[in-house]
Amino acid sequence: MDFGQGFNMTSYAQVAVPTPLHHLFTYKIPDSLKDKVTAGQRLVVPFRKKQVIGFCLGLTDQMPTGFDEKNLKAVLEVREAQPVFSEKMIALLTWMADYYCAPIGLACHGALPSRLSRLQGPARAKLKLPEEEHPAFYETESIQLHAKQQTALDKILEFSKEKNPKPVLLHGITGSGKTEIYLQLIREVLNRGQQAILLAPEIALTPQLIGRVQSRLKEKIAIYHSGLSEAWRHLYWEKMRAGELNVVVGTRSALFAPFSRLGLIIVDEEQDSSYKQEEGALHYHARDAAIVRAGLEGTAILLGSATPSLESFHNAKKGKYHYLYLDERAAGAKLPAVELIDLRKTKFTEGSKTLSENLKNALAETLYRGEQSLLFLNRRGFANFLLCQDCGEALQCPHCAISLTYHKYPPALVCHYCEFRRVVAEKCGACGSPALKLLGQGTQTLEEELRELFPEAKIIRLDRDTAARREVRHQTLQAMKKGEADILLGTQIVAKGHDFPNVTLVGVILADISLNLPDFRAAEKTFQILTQAAGRSGRAEKPGRVIIQTFHPDHFSLICSQTHNFERFSQTELKARESLRYPPFSRLAQIRLQSVRPERVEQAARNIKKFLDRFGLKGRHWIEVLGPAKPPLAKLRGKHRQQILLKAENAPALKSCLKQLNQFAQRQLPPAVQIQIDVDCLNMM
Ligand code: ADP
Ligand code: ZN
Ligand code: ZN
Repeated sequence: MDFGQGFNMTSYAQVAVPTPLHHLFTYKIPDSLKDKVTAGQRLVVPFRKKQVIGFCLGLTDQMPTGFDEKNLKAVLEVREAQPVFSEKMIALLTWMADYYCAPIGLACHGALPSRLSRLQGPARAKLKLPEEEHPAFYETESIQLHAKQQTALDKILEFSKEKNPKPVLLHGITGSGKTEIYLQLIREVLNRGQQAILLAPEIALTPQLIGRVQSRLKEKIAIYHSGLSEAWRHLYWEKMRAGELNVVVGTRSALFAPFSRLGLIIVDEEQDSSYKQEEGALHYHARDAAIVRAGLEGTAILLGSATPSLESFHNAKKGKYHYLYLDERAAGAKLPAVELIDLRKTKFTEGSKTLSENLKNALAETLYRGEQSLLFLNRRGFANFLLCQDCGEALQCPHCAISLTYHKYPPALVCHYCEFRRVVAEKCGACGSPALKLLGQGTQTLEEELRELFPEAKIIRLDRDTAARREVRHQTLQAMKKGEADILLGTQIVAKGHDFPNVTLVGVILADISLNLPDFRAAEKTFQILTQAAGRSGRAEKPGRVIIQTFHPDHFSLICSQTHNFERFSQTELKARESLRYPPFSRLAQIRLQSVRPERVEQAARNIKKFLDRFGLKGRHWIEVLGPAKPPLAKLRGKHRQQILLKAENAPALKSCLKQLNQFAQRQLPPAVQIQIDVDCLNMM
């Protein structure tokens, strides 16, 4: 396929249309539109008795084989002269559709403000950018970088001059001044007349961050996140394309920013799982797609993190990425002291099922000093497991080395990878104690207890129930920042990214919840979340304290977070991953099947399993097929579900397997069964 340069013979357009098919469609270009069609444009084309918006991804003078000129349909209209996708963007979307096994037309549609995908709808954004500036939360003058920050900045600039710059992994402990480096880098990029993308996890994209970027750069920026209305998305998109806004701060879809002079992509908190898009037609990882975009554009990309993902860290160790490390807090603050409370030996405080004596006392002291506390209880649905109160063991699957999940109806302990199941034990398998406890307290019980224990304290709770709306979340966090609350308690939302200078106590109610998730990344997630949570304590002058309650005080991921020892954590965990052939030593894809008919979906799962097993015997690289198993959500919105986990030696092996599988599924799956493939899956449920 060529893009039309030097040809004026081209009379066919290859068009991505919004349909769940994986190939492009060829349309005739009528004489009236000759010389008007270019790659990247939106076209109106007839499709199945309708007219739709399609995207021209290429031009050709070759009639597709097996077609008769007469039967080809013609392009009806060119939506606008200026393409919506550059050549690089077409290459990126083509790569994404291919790599993530997604229909190309739907991938294209997902990369644009949804208004541009509709036949009807305003051609131009009708809103205007507001005149008044965002309130400045932060000082507008540049901060003098300290020596380590300056060295990192210089290195990043030096690396970015390489011909095809390798990604840079900036590993800096919480509060080490990474954001400060980002801001100065972006300034530099703007001074060169180029444009920059700053990606942040959904939760971290707060008005504070936006305000900080805006006031420092002293110019307007584009903002892109899920809470934005369609009209605003459209407006920001147009302003970016027109070169009126040269910086975008946003969540994952900001990676599609229509910049033509891209000079830098920054992915903050690169390990965050919210970068994985798990809805819609295209399931992609925004960090990985951003790396591919940077590669295609030849621009620099910076991944920042206090606790890099093992995938990225492994790449850095292998030399695929540059690696920079900041090991001190910027403003002179010290990392907090971390205490582990052994719940097997500790009495809970009177009137509480969740707080140890130590944590209660620490809360009381912090209140007395007029400082703030943050309590973190990572209580996700479906994370129920049975734990021995005497030895701290949770029962594990003998095949997959992940915790078994407790199911109530019918009562059983089930492995969510391979469907191994066993009866609910009455005694601990490790020590024989009958003191098995089903863990499943939530933030609401904790809140009630706190109100009883500290009636005079101002307490706020933040979790999915209270903070589903962005505004509520931001108001709550703002109240915390202004010192209007004494104790903030909540789920992951409270643990990440915030900068509350007056928080000097962080309490983790039960570290074991994330440790026992049915997920091979459980240890990594625990280390990350504990490090993040601890990072909220003592960020300013006042020293911070962290108390972690756990039944596993001797688990390496807890000990390593206690001692802030990423190096040791990663060594231990990478070794385990290697021996179990989990990423980064393999590639995974989750194959999800669903149907209203349970027997159909089970049959389909068995067929796919058989197909994959046979494929695995033929290949030069190993693949492993786990399942089929019922996921924890065995029935969702009336549909019965089955999943198969595919493990492959490397990306090419996975890809060739999935390609075959896709063809097999298209031929063999009954229409009543839907299949969905999640490449590089993070969510194992
Ligand atoms: P990170 O992004 O690594 O968590 P930040 O850039 O947010 O770190 O910096 C943490 C705090 O330290 C912020 O309040 C920031 O304003 C301050 N800070 C960062 N760099 C410096 C510096 N060179 N001198 C003084 N304060 C700094
Ligand atoms: Zn036991
Ligand atoms: Zn198993």
